[in-house]
Amino acid sequence: MKGKVYLVGAGPGDYKLITLKGMDCIKEADVIVYDRLVNKNLLKNTKEGCEFIYVGKKSSNHTKTQDEINEIIAEIANKGKVVTRLKGGDPYVFGRGGEEGEYLKQRGIDFEVIPGITSAIGGLCYAGIPITHRDYASSFHVITGHLKDENSELDWESLCKLRGTLVFLMGIANLYKICTNLIERGKDKNTPVALINWATTPNQKVVEGTLENIYKRAIDEKIESPTLIVVGEVVNLRRELNFFENKPLFGKNIVVTRPRAQSSELVERIMNLGGNPIEFPTIKIEEIRPNEALDKEIENINEYSYIIFTSENGVKVFFDRLLELGFDGRRLGNLKVVAIGPATSKALRDRGIIADIIPKRFVGEAIVEELQEILSKEDKILIPRASEAREYLVKKLRKICSVVECKTYETIKGEVDKEEILEFLNEDKIDYITFTSSSTVKNFFEIIGVEKQDRLKDAKLISIGPITSKAIESFGLKVYKEASEYTINGVIKAITEN
Ligand code: SAH
Repeated sequence: MKGKVYLVGAGPGDYKLITLKGMDCIKEADVIVYDRLVNKNLLKNTKEGCEFIYVGKKSSNHTKTQDEINEIIAEIANKGKVVTRLKGGDPYVFGRGGEEGEYLKQRGIDFEVIPGITSAIGGLCYAGIPITHRDYASSFHVITGHLKDENSELDWESLCKLRGTLVFLMGIANLYKICTNLIERGKDKNTPVALINWATTPNQKVVEGTLENIYKRAIDEKIESPTLIVVGEVVNLRRELNFFENKPLFGKNIVVTRPRAQSSELVERIMNLGGNPIEFPTIKIEEIRPNEALDKEIENINEYSYIIFTSENGVKVFFDRLLELGFDGRRLGNLKVVAIGPATSKALRDRGIIADIIPKRFVGEAIVEELQEILSKEDKILIPRASEAREYLVKKLRKICSVVECKTYETIKGEVDKEEILEFLNEDKIDYITFTSSSTVKNFFEIIGVEKQDRLKDAKLISIGPITSKAIESFGLKVYKEASEYTINGVIKAITEN
């Protein structure tokens, strides 16, 4: 049985610029074969067990030839597997998608091609440059800048006669040659030029100039590949249309220390604001299993008058077990349900329970303040929560009535690769580090090594609330800003409202 190959355009960089159809192919793939310019975030959407093959440059110092890539793809497809071949931009724009398709066709392997947003158009867009404009350019020309020799295949004379926007791909190494040829064959030396490096990513960098001076500027600014070279009057529109680089967190590297399972909201918000989230999950949630104590409490839940949830995880673990034991939300019918904050109450709502009480501030102290007004000594409270949670809540409430704490999960140190973070820190490239609980703080320092703390002096440490701030200060470091609302929204506000 023969498999199937999808040649998919992954878009220019921003991973949301892939098509819905392209994303479906990623989800369906048994094997993904991908290039250097493909955003690695896309690879998170694969099904379990999907295999990854990197065929870009610098893969173990060996660049795979096109023939080798063709063979790899065909060989896997011949085993009956679905191969998704991800390429930067559009597969047919200098992407050798045509050759791959022909190769497959000749071997009778079924394939489909899914177009992508090419960097030649989308990359310009994110730099604030429309490739055509009624007043400035009524055509555009996408040209290879990968020139083999002096008498290259390009017809410079004809190119110079064109009035439309010229976009050179793969041309940064030949920038001088390109500019000189254009000037010598008749283009005005004052024609605007923009170089767009790593377009549509948080590292996007644009250098502007003219055909005459752009080469020198490129050297001064150390512009390397991948870069788009844009020649034409449309470059000037950048001043009006540069929406991307004007985003509030554009160019900022922000470390997210939450566990991966919970980081998506923060990561997403940072990306939408133009920032570069660096996921560094310092904690991992591990359910306590088997947990006879929890089973017993669920069995006897009608003895309680209150149940308090202090985190999303607490809700998840409790309800997973509740369902496993054959019960559902009605089991809590006679209890008042307390949620520490909006994320916890949302987790409850998703399971069909609307919390009766959500304190005004999202810390244990606020729960005590609100509950002490209404509790009597006949009440009985169940608190299913993390094994290393603070004593405060239980201790205070026990002064009023009976409280049973049931440990349902542990937060253990995440298994993360610290080298990337240390490299960023070494180069002073981290702008913010976000901490969303005291265990993220403790584990962060344990993972990077307490002796590396001095590297943090230029990073701004953002804390979700007072308990987390205390943990940061206990390491002798300063909190740059504490969220005024103890939620992810609050953390984002603390970063953006400077
Ligand atoms: N198929 C791709 C182009 C592949 S050729 C597409 O449609 O976009 C590789 C060249 O594309 C690079 O040398 C560079 O000139 C350009 N390129 C691709 N992605 C880029 C990006 N994010 N930023 C700048 N240039 C990019």
